[in-house]
Parts: sequence; structure tokens; C-alpha cells
Amino acid sequence: MRKDFKTKMNRGAAVLLAALTLTAGGCAGKADSQTTAADTTASQATTEAAATTAENITTKAAQSTTQAPTQAPTTEVETTTAAPVTPSEFTLDGVKEHHFISDSYCYLESEKYFLLLDKDIDLPGDFAVTVDVILDALEEELGLSAMPDDYEYSGMGDFSVYYDGFDPWEQIDPGKKIPILVLADPEAEGRTSSASASNASLAMLALYADTIWEPGSPLAQTGWEKPDYVDYSEIAHELTHVISSRNCEMSKIMSEGLADHMMYVVIDKLADQYPSIAETKEKTYRFDFIIPEVVNAESAERIFVYDFHDRNHAQSGAEYVIGRYLCEYLRERFGREFYRTYNDIIKAKHLDYVYGNYKEENAQAFADGLKEAFGEDIFVQFGNWCVEKDVLQHVYTPEE
Ligand SMILES: [Zn+2]
Repeated sequence: MRKDFKTKMNRGAAVLLAALTLTAGGCAGKADSQTTAADTTASQATTEAAATTAENITTKAAQSTTQAPTQAPTTEVETTTAAPVTPSEFTLDGVKEHHFISDSYCYLESEKYFLLLDKDIDLPGDFAVTVDVILDALEEELGLSAMPDDYEYSGMGDFSVYYDGFDPWEQIDPGKKIPILVLADPEAEGRTSSASASNASLAMLALYADTIWEPGSPLAQTGWEKPDYVDYSEIAHELTHVISSRNCEMSKIMSEGLADHMMYVVIDKLADQYPSIAETKEKTYRFDFIIPEVVNAESAERIFVYDFHDRNHAQSGAEYVIGRYLCEYLRERFGREFYRTYNDIIKAKHLDYVYGNYKEENAQAFADGLKEAFGEDIFVQFGNWCVEKDVLQHVYTPEE
């Protein structure tokens, strides 16, 4: 699987070099302090994190590209004191072949989000319009608003964890819009994308400017290659997290499963109309993560309640694929309103799910909500469907 994926990744990697550079040198100002973000996962990020850790097994390669971990990122601290920087505004012209390269912090304001760029980010000209249509499609498919009135908005939040104590975005007032940070990774710390109710962070190899891919640079030395396309499915995954968690909390399996499910739904839905999304559909390799146990009528509810709460991110994967098939099944039987139906029940019950503080009765309440929404035997039905479809039936056995 990984091998196939790599082949796809490498195909035509040089094409991008031929692309036009529309604006070399985007924003005014200069900043040097961003190279040492203290932590790649960041405290704001609740759901995601280093799912990519690992040469091991299948993990999350398809969504997060093939970033492998390097050394512990926290050990080196640069003592550069950069003068405060006021981010400037930029625009994109909508043309995929044109590229915008940032040379300092800058932002773009769209109808539903702020795009906040690090230095050395390379965006295709159609990036913002593509994110626009993905967000619209997600709202439609989820039946939920990305800017719900009853969510408690708390401004930008503090991003200094990404910038060695300095926060370039403290003057931005996002209102209800989603802050979407586009992070660079010049020191090749293995940053990964993440999201929470308050914002999304994108760390994607394809969006790092050629200047930080130069031979001899930390990125080049990793052996990673710059993909020749933007994987919009990864962005759809993270934005699903933002929308769903602004509306109500979810258990881990449902949260990750929904994000992976919606990423396929919107990419498939929009591919015919938008060439960049068609490219994502064509070049992103789809696969199932390994699971530790077969899902059937007997095990489905127990697994949902267990929720892989004691697994760290290096072991993660099963929650994504089990949750994705659960959503697929629910959509097949109850239509695309399934999630809105479940969301409304969980919300009415005021259920909380605190990551890292698992309580079985709490997780059971999320399972009971599913029964309330779709029938007492919903887990039995789902288990039978899995067996019938021959999905989630193949367990990985480590060779030792
Ligand atoms: Zn996720």
C-alpha cells in the first residue's frame, strides 16, 4: 500500500517546477522567528496529531502525505528576536497554474475563513476558491453551519506555540470565520495538519515553497519529495472537524470517521466541476487502515464504546476506518441527514467528550444517542452490514 502510494506521489513531481510564479515575494515585512515552533501538534489541536508517525504499518499516509517523524522538535530553541510583524493582506487570482509564494506572514479573508500564511508557503492561484467550494459542500452535506450562532467564539486564540513564543496573528479579529493556518516546516520537524472547533492548521508538503526544498535544506535531506498536487481531501478532513466540533462534541470514532467519510463525499461530489479536486481524486490513494478486531453484530457496539481511547497516535488508524464505514452505512440507510440527526440528539443531551479523559459511561451515552437516532439494533445492523460487504473483516496480526 505504501509503495503504491509513493509511486503516485512521485509521478510528475517535476511538473510543478514548470509552473508560473505569479507573485514571487508576496507580503511586506520580514520575520525570522517562525522556524522553531515548539510543538508540531500544538495545544489547540484536539482531535488529530501525529497520525503520521511511523514507518510502521499503514497509518495515515493518504491524508497527511508521507511525513515521517524526525528528531524531537522541542530540543532546539533559537533565540532570534524578530521585530513584531504586521501581517499584510494578499489575494489569489483563481488560476491554478499561477502561484503565490509568501515571503512573510500574510492573510487572505474569504467569506467563511481567514487564510493565515507562514513565510515560504506556495499556494496555487485557485487554492482559496477551491477551499470555498469545499466548505460550502461540507456545510450542505453535514446540514450544519461552519459559523453557528450558538458556538462561543473566542477570537483568534494564542498561536505562539507555533512561533516560538511570538504570535503573528494576535491583531486579526476573525469574528465567526475560521482561522486556517498554513504552516511551513523549514526545519523538517514533521509537522502535521490538525483542527479543533476554533481553527484548522494545515502542514502539507505540497504547500511548502521551493525555497525551503532546496538541495541540502532540512526538508530535502529527509528524502521526502514535494508532491505535484494539493491533496484537498486532507483539507476537507480538517474542515469537517472544525464544523462538526463547532456544533457539538463527538467521540473519537465518530469524529475521525465522519472527517474521513466527508472528505470522500465532497471530493467525489466536486471532482467533475473542479479540476484541482479531480486531481486529488485521481492521485490520492485510498485504502483501509488495519483494525485490531473484526466488526460484526456481536462486536460493533463494544468497539464503538471502547473508542480506542487508550491508543496513542502512533497506533491510530482503526478509529478512522471503522468510523468511516459506520458513516457510510448510516448514509446509505438514512440519507445524508444522518449526521444532522445524530448531531441534534447529542447536542440536546449536552454530552461532552473530553479527549484524554475517557469515561466508559460517557462513551456509552454517545452509543445510546446513536440507538435513539436510528433504532435499538443499529449496532447489530451495522455489524451485519460489515460482514455482508466484507469490510472491517480483516485483522492485522503483527509478525514477531
Ligand atoms: Zn482527523
